[in-house]
Amino acid sequence: MNIVLLGAPGAGKGTQAAKLVAEYDIAHISTGDILRAAVKAGTPLGLEAKSFMDSGALVPDSVVIGLVKERLQEEDTKRGFILDGFPRTTTQAVALDAELSGLDRDIDAAIAVIVDPEIIVERLTSRRLCKSCGYIGSTADTNCPQCGGEMYQRDDDKAETVRNRLEVYETATAPLIEYYRGSELLVEVEGDRPVDEVFAAIKRAIN
Ligand code: AMP
Repeated sequence: MNIVLLGAPGAGKGTQAAKLVAEYDIAHISTGDILRAAVKAGTPLGLEAKSFMDSGALVPDSVVIGLVKERLQEEDTKRGFILDGFPRTTTQAVALDAELSGLDRDIDAAIAVIVDPEIIVERLTSRRLCKSCGYIGSTADTNCPQCGGEMYQRDDDKAETVRNRLEVYETATAPLIEYYRGSELLVEVEGDRPVDEVFAAIKRAIN
């Protein structure tokens, strides 16, 4: 099962991706996670990506496309994969199609998690993550409910950057919904409801 997860930042892609990975035993490819790890490690990729990420802008297509192409060469992706946060531009979507066709693989579904932008701002600015296990929670979690680890706020979840990220989403990424509708892969799921309900709707849609 090869899945593309679409949706605005804060729509719940990361949370749903983690559940899909556990359910279907497929590889999780999050370009945001790969880039954040590179920034943390201070690699050349991280140094290049950091200023774009801090301002809520997109990292250049060539950089992100290169990352995903490399990741798709890895053995674990042959069991299936979920792309979380990629593609984010039409250029990336076209490059992904070309790469997959070269590998003789297909996308089975493009799942768009739809949430009202006002709810997104509230969700993102109150989002907190666990430093140890990556659990995605909120300001209500003083410690990680999963492992007891320390919670932190992503730099790009501060209010001003969030607004910028949403604008970038509307301009660059939202058109991909039509792109995947055109190839009849699109499944739209209402994301403004409890996590397990969203997950159940996704499973129904892809089975
Ligand atoms: P995310 O964790 O998916 O919200 O990504 C965090 C940040 O990483 C984004 O705001 C972008 O700066 C960068 N990023 C992640 N994925 C991509 C992508 N596919 N294309 C360009 N930039 C990306």
